Amino acid sequence: MNELKPCPFCPDGGKPEIGYTVTYWGYCHTCGTEGPYKTTREEAIEAWNTRASLWIPANETVQEGQEAFVRVKFPGGPTVFYWATVENGVWSENFDDEIIPSGYVTHFHPIAEIPA
Ligand SMILES: [Zn+2]
Repeated sequence: MNELKPCPFCPDGGKPEIGYTVTYWGYCHTCGTEGPYKTTREEAIEAWNTRASLWIPANETVQEGQEAFVRVKFPGGPTVFYWATVENGVWSENFDDEIIPSGYVTHFHPIAEIPA
């Protein structure tokens, strides 16, 4: 039994495990996603599982104006995270309004509105 939820970034759930040196962290053997780093194994499991629940695959419907952190995988390049908003049906990076090419966004993490 695996106490870790499937890797949120691997279509097949990846191969998540807990690593340990001076701190504990979750990592995925398949895609290399790792962290967050925690002082106990239990905290590392909790942190991995919390994140796994928050990332939504990019192929799910997004609304115009949706603001989110997006995970972007450039072909043959690095995986990066941007703060972005859906404008005219495409993800647009918030700092310089640069459009993120469709298909490069793998997942998004909606940003909640500031509580009233
Ligand atoms: Zn993975």
